[in-house]
Amino acid sequence: MAYVGRFAPSPTGPLHQGSLVAALASYLDARAHGGRWLVRIEDLDAPRVVEGADRTILQQLQAMGLAWDGDVLYQSSRHAAYREAFDTLRQAGAAYPCACTRKEIADSILNLRGRLPSGELPYPGTCRNGLNGRPARAWRLRVPQGRTRIVDRWAGLVEQDVESEVGDFVLFRADGMWAYQLAVVVDDAAQGITDVVRGADLLGSTPRQKILQDMLQLPNPRWMHVPIVVNAEGQKLSKQTGAAAIDAARPLAALEAAWRHLQFEPFQAADVTAFLAEATRRWARRWQIEKFPA
Ligand code: GLU
Repeated sequence: MAYVGRFAPSPTGPLHQGSLVAALASYLDARAHGGRWLVRIEDLDAPRVVEGADRTILQQLQAMGLAWDGDVLYQSSRHAAYREAFDTLRQAGAAYPCACTRKEIADSILNLRGRLPSGELPYPGTCRNGLNGRPARAWRLRVPQGRTRIVDRWAGLVEQDVESEVGDFVLFRADGMWAYQLAVVVDDAAQGITDVVRGADLLGSTPRQKILQDMLQLPNPRWMHVPIVVNAEGQKLSKQTGAAAIDAARPLAALEAAWRHLQFEPFQAADVTAFLAEATRRWARRWQIEKFPA
């Protein structure tokens, strides 16, 4: 199957060094496979979207020499597709409405179970068997029992008991928006993505995405989750933790820093084009990608 990869930034601010690592890794993996590399702007979370950040991100990618294939897809144009997938799940009895507020969920699991590493709370299943007359706020997926296994090209075998560790997760949010987990699965399938290469902060979401793919009879892509960049306090770089935008005036320096973060030896390159060509060769060698003409 012909390789199709993607970079899927949320336009909540300019690219920082952490998001550049994900962009570079997915770009190199796609090019090393002789594949296509798509860009998708994940602009569903309206309150977090920053006006113009999408254009800034695209300009930064261009400055880094990270040229994408085809048109950029915006998730805000994809509501009908999410609705269709949601209806499929609902008709199969796999989705149910939920009346719980965050506070109620927190209270009901207090002292029972811990928090997820992300700080999210596992949903205890309160509304699985009905709303008891309360108004619906969100819709959740009825998560099947048992452990979900995925094989990650970087992390190896990853297993999660989604039902107990995450619980029935949200498909349609109380604020009227489609949840990331549903949108990403629908779009990856619609765009024919064969390989997801992204930051390890999303490794914990991958079993949820596999469950959705399986329920919607969509193919599982291959996954690779690369190390995330953290700040001096050990927090993931993000707009929330005050990460600085990458310096588009010095693209080679930014790419070289991202390359070292991916655990490669530095090398000399005259410019961005020469850097990306050599980095693609080295990436292909490390991951033993045979299709790449050596
Ligand atoms: N939009 C997500 C983010 O910026 C990435 C989604 C993905 O790669 O699956 O964190």
